[in-house]
Amino acid sequence: MHQLTLAEIARGLADKKFSSEELTKVLLARIAQLDPQLNSFISLTEDLALQQAKSADVRRANGESGALLGAPIAHKDLFCTQGIRTSCGSKMLDNFKAPYDATVVAKLAAAGAVTLGKTNMDEFAMGSANESSYYGAVKNPWNLEHVPGGSSGGSAAAVAARLLPAATATDTGGSIRQPAAFTNLTGLKPTYGRVSRWGMIAYASSLDQGGPLARTAEDCAILLQGMAGFDPKDSTSIDEPVPDYSAGLNGSLQGLRIGVPKEYFSAGLDPRIAELIHNSVKELEKLGAVVKEISLPNMQHAIPAYYVIAPAEASSNLSRFDGVRFGYRCENPKDLTDLYKRSRGEGFGPEVQRRIMVGAYALSAGYYDAYYLKAQKIRRLVKNDFMAAFNEVDIILGPTTPNPAWKLGAKNSDPVAAYLEDVYTITANLAGLPGLSMPAGFVDGLPVGVQLLAPYFQEGRLLNVAHQYQLNTDWHTRTPTGF
Ligand code: GLN
Repeated sequence: MHQLTLAEIARGLADKKFSSEELTKVLLARIAQLDPQLNSFISLTEDLALQQAKSADVRRANGESGALLGAPIAHKDLFCTQGIRTSCGSKMLDNFKAPYDATVVAKLAAAGAVTLGKTNMDEFAMGSANESSYYGAVKNPWNLEHVPGGSSGGSAAAVAARLLPAATATDTGGSIRQPAAFTNLTGLKPTYGRVSRWGMIAYASSLDQGGPLARTAEDCAILLQGMAGFDPKDSTSIDEPVPDYSAGLNGSLQGLRIGVPKEYFSAGLDPRIAELIHNSVKELEKLGAVVKEISLPNMQHAIPAYYVIAPAEASSNLSRFDGVRFGYRCENPKDLTDLYKRSRGEGFGPEVQRRIMVGAYALSAGYYDAYYLKAQKIRRLVKNDFMAAFNEVDIILGPTTPNPAWKLGAKNSDPVAAYLEDVYTITANLAGLPGLSMPAGFVDGLPVGVQLLAPYFQEGRLLNVAHQYQLNTDWHTRTPTGF
């Protein structure tokens, strides 16, 4: 039963082949048995899950239907869950029980989804390896000596290991797409404003966006349907109608114009990944797509711009964790300054402290113009490149990451080495565009992802292309040994 996708679960529940309660018990037992190897969960919510599953079964018995009614999922541990620990992977919030549900959590619960638990993540979503979590690193089910990607590494490892069919995640610079690539999943970062950020603990507010991680595009469509929509509680949420994503999966790719940026195939890209990307292009050509080389000339400036803007916003967002209002407080503070200093010094890990320092520096008088303003100008140039490209093509295709998942600890001594791995994902966040990563093959037994980008609010186009690709390839069906 643990092999079932969300779409198959919905059919099985509708056909009364099993109940949500039965399925939930099977998955909870599987998590108890296998998760100690992976460390993909920070908290399990067994009681809530069983109660939600029973209530979904009653709703179905009363004639209700819906693809998420009775479907087991988990939430990345930065979505606030009322009365349940919401740690953000940090000692700072280890004792924090959210007083309300995030909009995403509330919407999915209303649709009948069953929450099995809260998944592990890099501390405050800062990282690309899930090694900065206060709760310890997460292992990649494809090779337990390798990282699963980050920051949504717990959601990715759990779904890849078939502990559950899908999970929520967030993407500030790649944290949905990069772990999807590293664990052979399909992950979608929606257009900025498509999914409400209310109750999603902020890292860099102008870049953060929630989205689905699942094994197939078909399942991403189902989960995104439950997450997307206007939310008056989030001032950056956009009041655009939400299309029926599942209904849009079967469009023909005849004549689809795919742009492949020449800058993507530079020296930093593993040639074996380049070959797999070219293979995926050929596959899409067979389905009727036409391919064209394009250029994104400002791409080279994106990493430095991102690593000014994201820390700048983080330094502001994280100032609320002061040891006074909520979260960790140091023992026996001497005075108020000591309370602030030690609560933050002891509550935040090294990567978070590094980002706060960088961000505060970039925003300080005298440096603001040189760093922050300059980075914002680059952000506009990156967006302009995409706007020009989308005048010529319908989607942009390339690798999700320059290398496959690295070994645990391999980049710990050099944070910049990890930052460079974000080169293909962060531009979509800077521009606010939707992006999807899907399985495209393996290198040394480790999964490789191909990334698709589309114009604003064209999530449906990304899901359509990915679904058609998955109907004609079987990379996404491969299962890691031992799971
Ligand atoms: N690796 C990037 C960072 O550390 C992106 C993380 C994310 O998307 N949350 O900022």
